[in-house]
Amino acid sequence: MRVLIVEDESRLAENIARSLREIAGYAVDLAADGPQGLQLASRNAYDLIILDLMLPGFDGRQLLVQLREAGQQTPVLILTARDDKESLVALLNSGADDYLTKPFDLGELLARAKVLIRRGKGQPSPLLTVGDLQINTVDHTVRRGERAITLTAMEYRVLEYLAHRSGAVVSKSELLEHLYDYNWEKFSNVIEVYISGLRRKLNDGKQRQLIHTLRNQGYTLQE
Ligand code: CA
Repeated sequence: MRVLIVEDESRLAENIARSLREIAGYAVDLAADGPQGLQLASRNAYDLIILDLMLPGFDGRQLLVQLREAGQQTPVLILTARDDKESLVALLNSGADDYLTKPFDLGELLARAKVLIRRGKGQPSPLLTVGDLQINTVDHTVRRGERAITLTAMEYRVLEYLAHRSGAVVSKSELLEHLYDYNWEKFSNVIEVYISGLRRKLNDGKQRQLIHTLRNQGYTLQE
């Protein structure tokens, strides 16, 4: 998953980014003002945008309105220092999905971020199930039937993304786009390495393959 944080308080932005990266395993991009936020949000495919309201350039509300007018459906979590009920109603009416009032607990932000990402992908439950495969997106544990499966952090990220899009064909470029942030060099052969690692670990030799390759199209996770 890849998240954009638009926040001009750099210490707060870094703290949020660190917990999203280290605890949730998400790729994170940062923008410090309205115009930069809009540019990144328009150019990249994010799974969630965390948007501060008071920003240099233009504010978070204007950014949100522009994104929604352009047809962007990415879930947006607003960070607000105001407890002005009037403006919160206006924000929700402008297409915000949720909000947090500063100061907030990072654990709460993380929990809400996960809910919004799941809902954005039509998956209300934190437990993703594909056949006898179970992925717990809260503690990142994976089981196939009775067997617990140990994955590397990147293998988990690939599997979680495929599970969120279960049944759909996911191209290599879509995986790269959603698993890496702006500063990473993207190599498509890296994805092949993770997929082959996942195939080996998900299958003990007797079980059916769950990850299928469609030539020149990508991968699909299904029974
Ligand atoms: Ca601010």
